[in-house]
Amino acid sequence: MDITVAAVTASASFELRPAQLDEPRADEVLVRLSSVGICATDLHFATFLPTDAVLGHEGAGVVEAVGAGVTDLKPGDPVALAFTSCGVCKQCRTASPSYCAQFDALNFAGARPDGSSALRIDGQPVYGHFLGQSSFATHAVVNVRSVVKLPESADLRNAGPFGCGFMTGAGTIVNILKPGPESAIAVFGAGAVGLASVMAAAASGAQTVIAVDVSPGRLQTAQEVGATHVLDSREGDVAERIRAIVPDGLDGSVDTTGRADVVKDAVAALHTRGTCAVVGVGPSENVEIEWRTLLNGRTVTGVISGSAVPQVLVPQLLAWQAAGRFPVEKLIAHYAFADINEAAAATKRGDIIKAVLTF
Ligand SMILES: [Zn+2]
Ligand SMILES: [Zn+2]
Repeated sequence: MDITVAAVTASASFELRPAQLDEPRADEVLVRLSSVGICATDLHFATFLPTDAVLGHEGAGVVEAVGAGVTDLKPGDPVALAFTSCGVCKQCRTASPSYCAQFDALNFAGARPDGSSALRIDGQPVYGHFLGQSSFATHAVVNVRSVVKLPESADLRNAGPFGCGFMTGAGTIVNILKPGPESAIAVFGAGAVGLASVMAAAASGAQTVIAVDVSPGRLQTAQEVGATHVLDSREGDVAERIRAIVPDGLDGSVDTTGRADVVKDAVAALHTRGTCAVVGVGPSENVEIEWRTLLNGRTVTGVISGSAVPQVLVPQLLAWQAAGRFPVEKLIAHYAFADINEAAAATKRGDIIKAVLTF
């Protein structure tokens, strides 16, 4: 079928182009996009992928057609899209699909496992299936393992980022740190992922939720979505200031920055037996942690996509959103699909927290 995509250009921006999309295969679903979030990963990949590649991995929309082997979805179903996974490796079989043995091959190769792409521009196959989706497009053909069925009442204008950024931040809280009523959690970096962690920690009932950032505007947003305390990291020793709030130290911390100096603070502020979850990719290749700090029962763990099964976590987060406990609308700025370059530029400048394109 004929569709419109936002294809990567030689200057790492996007251009709306006519494209052709194949019919869904037996294990695939054709989705008409209603909205798609822009994530930092899209903008990073745009800098080195071939021209005409189609990115986008925070899509939400409506099922238009299903392949012969798809039994749990039908045309008209509202859905959000997430990464894909193989379904048969040890990690997939133990409900950890974000650590799938085939994750990179399935999500970043630009094609299905057999090397084919469902997308063509000017008759030539192009890089598609990005993170299971390539949803910078009016329509996408996706593997059924990427698809999260949503309730009829789902808010499709805001549902897209639940498949990546919001799931990453919130899943780290729900699946890894699991705060209880007396817990103290700190979140380093108040972007879309970090603020999703803040919202999830507050919604989980954590007593103390500290947001750390360098942007006064983002710290204010953090307070609006559930942070009990905010710290501007430029104003002095962060670990010390966290100890002033919670003298025993944190039960959990989340680093979304990928910066070694920040991770050191996020570990130093833990109490013994506390856990630091590292979810960000940033400028640092290595981080040095003092031996005895770690020896005293602390845990540092990496987390991909919130260690989530998207089909389990996304509906839970949407239920929180519907109840007013996960107010993503405070983070989202909507743009028309045609204004993707404007939305990408605002994202890069940090003017907005989460851009969502609408169709
Ligand atoms: Zn992402
Ligand atoms: Zn797998």
